[in-house]
Amino acid sequence: MKILLASLCVISLLVILPSVFSASSSSEDFDFFYFVQQWPGSYCDTQKKCCYPTTGKPAADFGIHGLWPNYKDGTYPSNCDETKPFDRSTISDLLTSMKKSWPTLACPSGSGEAFWEHEWEKHGTCSESVIDQHEYFQTALKLKQKTNLLGALTKAGINPDGKSYSLESIRDSIKESIGFTPWVECNRDGSGNSQLYQVYLCVDRSGSGLIQCPVFPHGKCGAEIEFPSF
Ligand code: 5GP
Ligand code: 5GP
Repeated sequence: MKILLASLCVISLLVILPSVFSASSSSEDFDFFYFVQQWPGSYCDTQKKCCYPTTGKPAADFGIHGLWPNYKDGTYPSNCDETKPFDRSTISDLLTSMKKSWPTLACPSGSGEAFWEHEWEKHGTCSESVIDQHEYFQTALKLKQKTNLLGALTKAGINPDGKSYSLESIRDSIKESIGFTPWVECNRDGSGNSQLYQVYLCVDRSGSGLIQCPVFPHGKCGAEIEFPSF
């Protein structure tokens, strides 16, 4: 009888313990990433001014804003690990591509490092169970290459020319070319017109492939939005 009881105890511990541990680790983990790209023309033509990076005016192309771990319920973790500050030496091989693909437009002008540091510390540290600092930045750069947003839009006749386009045509052209429906975020230009500001795509937990978004962020664009030049 004692042996039977003891083995029952062992068996129940074996069943219960793993679920306790997985519950506690998943509460610090995440389900997918938003890969967010910004249109520089829409960052710069608002009432708040922008500043070009110290390296000069960026290309007239979408730039990376960030790669953001998220939960399926729409909430997200942030600032997950103070013991892993941004360390430029871990990404020295990526700096040339970072300056090109992840330019900063905030004032005062900077090299981009303050922006990258912010994104790593707020968002990147929450994906450490899957990718390290080098992989975090490399993953974002690869995603940028893989998803040629401007190409997808211009192929459909949607150009950064200050004209208005239907939100539906913008979404459809990206879906047509990239295979997944994006989330489009708008902001307002200096005169108050709604315009194409950021495009969100969803990426699986490993950072290797695009997926259909499990949940979209909140916010609203008009049915017709401007695509300003840069
Ligand atoms: P805003 O309030 O301007 O939309 O967002 C401010 C910042 O909050 C973003 O730049 C980003 O760092 C964070 N943020 C906003 N929405 C989301 C979201 O849906 N997921 C994640 N992971 N971060 C978000
Ligand atoms: P998030 O909105 O991702 O939490 O924070 C963005 C932070 O990065 C802000 O503090 C903002 O000033 C800074 N930042 C630097 N460069 C840029 C840029 O080009 N675009 C955006 N959206 N934020 C930038």
